[in-house]
Amino acid sequence: MKYGVNEHGYYGDFGGAYIPEMLYPNVEELRQKYISIINDPDFKAEFDDLLKNYVGRPSPLYHAKRYSEKYGANIFFKREDLNHTGSHKINNAIGQILLAKRLGKKRIIAETGAGQHGVATATVCALMGIECVVYMGEIDMARQAPNVSRMKMLGATVRPASSGSKTLKDATNEALRDWIGNPVDTHYIIGSVVGPYPYPDMVARFQSIISEETKKQLVEHTGKQLPEYVLACVGGGSNAMGMFYHFLDDEDVKLVAVEAAGKGVDSGESAATTFLGQEGVLHGSRTILMQTPDGQVVEPYSISAGLDYPGIGPQHAHLYKINRAQYVSVTDDEAMKAGLLCSQMEGIIPAIESSHALAQLEKMTFKPDDNVVICLSGRGDKDLDTYIKYFGY
Ligand SMILES: *Cc1c(COP(=O)(O)O)cnc(C)c1O
Repeated sequence: MKYGVNEHGYYGDFGGAYIPEMLYPNVEELRQKYISIINDPDFKAEFDDLLKNYVGRPSPLYHAKRYSEKYGANIFFKREDLNHTGSHKINNAIGQILLAKRLGKKRIIAETGAGQHGVATATVCALMGIECVVYMGEIDMARQAPNVSRMKMLGATVRPASSGSKTLKDATNEALRDWIGNPVDTHYIIGSVVGPYPYPDMVARFQSIISEETKKQLVEHTGKQLPEYVLACVGGGSNAMGMFYHFLDDEDVKLVAVEAAGKGVDSGESAATTFLGQEGVLHGSRTILMQTPDGQVVEPYSISAGLDYPGIGPQHAHLYKINRAQYVSVTDDEAMKAGLLCSQMEGIIPAIESSHALAQLEKMTFKPDDNVVICLSGRGDKDLDTYIKYFGY
């Protein structure tokens, strides 16, 4: 695959495994075994069965008729919002728990920001009867209390990260510390296409089911495998990577990645990484991240907790740098408006993350025959409070 990872774990200038020496055995074990495990027919059969009968895949590719009329093209929603637990995150969590079992691991750790990845991880641990510890920033625990309760009800232990800014990056640091202390029996389920190699490639492979299904479904709808445009929002970049994966080598397909501009790219309250970031190392890989001139990570901001991340995965950094995908950004206000529009025109309340991808439609012009696929990465139930506060219902 032209845009895939090379044998050293790099995508062009980005990727690699920048880890403390004490993590080396864990990451090296994964690196040596992940491809053969994922390609094993038994693994594939179990993964496919759970995706079908537990997650509810294939997720529909829905032709949004009123949107199509409004935007003057054939608009399709890839309905990851209909998955069990409400987003694309469960695809990766299922893949990694099956991998952990085959590595003989007895305990799972994860980090979570908004709680969506924590819930997906707690869910698959309950499914497999494996102990689960989720690290979450103290501030995030207060902001996302319902997801903390969900994780606890699912049997997970939620440990507060109380250092630094008490948010996602601090939770990630705590999870890494735990992994260093428990290298033999514990697997760390990372929630996006970030982290040291092989995580970005492994997570992209698990999420690639999104574009694999989309190609087949497009044939049913349009008679063609390839759309003109594919759009997805980017936090760390896992739903976008899954949505882009099987279209990467089809150079005529225009890939559009939508970052969160927060209150505006120049406002000082933003998460538009490609606009504001420079090259550096974040969470174990060389990528593009928001940082001060002396290399300290800048706190990101977005109204959407899932896009509130100071970096992007290394494969995205590469696709950005070589211009294979276009990276754009959408503000809080534009996203919220798009979320309301989708609710009232299509009867679908999207996650605020997904609303960012929808908002990009306003800024594009299409030909009437264009086929446009948008990844609806999650449902809006978790965001109801934020929508309500914003619109004053
Ligand atoms: C977590 C999340 C995202 C952002 O994560 P990516 O890894 O960039 O996909 C987007 N949408 C939803 C619904 C999420 O829960």
